[in-house]
Amino acid sequence: MEHFTGKILLHICCGPCSLYCIDDLRARFPESEIVGLYANPNIHPYEEFLRRKESTQMACTYKNIPVVFLPDYDQEKWEAYTEEDPARCAMCYRVRMEMTAAYAKEHGFDGFTSTLFVSPYQNHELMEAVCREMAAKYGITYLHCDFRPGFRKGQQEAREIGLYRQKYCGCIRSLPKPKEGK
Ligand code: SF4
Repeated sequence: MEHFTGKILLHICCGPCSLYCIDDLRARFPESEIVGLYANPNIHPYEEFLRRKESTQMACTYKNIPVVFLPDYDQEKWEAYTEEDPARCAMCYRVRMEMTAAYAKEHGFDGFTSTLFVSPYQNHELMEAVCREMAAKYGITYLHCDFRPGFRKGQQEAREIGLYRQKYCGCIRSLPKPKEGK
């Protein structure tokens, strides 16, 4: 990873995923200021959006970083895709990474990355390509960090401090199916 000392905007998908990423970013870029950004219009239902927002606030308070919350909530885009359509996640990454790159550019940040890169369940190659595209579009540095080695450590820490840990990715199409007969 390149030497980087600028101000970093960290897109945060939820509290548990942010814990290890904040530690890792501090270790990689000790001179950088880190600010979180909750920008997740995909989360369904709205109560879940608020629950993840709350867990993000708790995690950022615990790790002592400021965090900004974007109120955007847009379900139609996700409802337009079927469960099986792989283009849905590409769209989802684009929406959230564009919000992040645009916010970073507008508010004087030097670089951005996302806690989505801690998850072994996300498509890392696709996310990286989207981030690089948004970095070029907005003229800002994308900091590529593979946080996956710390996934379990972060989840363990979330358990220890009592953070809410969700069971599904986030959008309406990723909701777990109700069990038969219930
Ligand atoms: S499964 Fe996850 S990444 Fe894919 S569209 Fe839904 S919320 Fe976004």
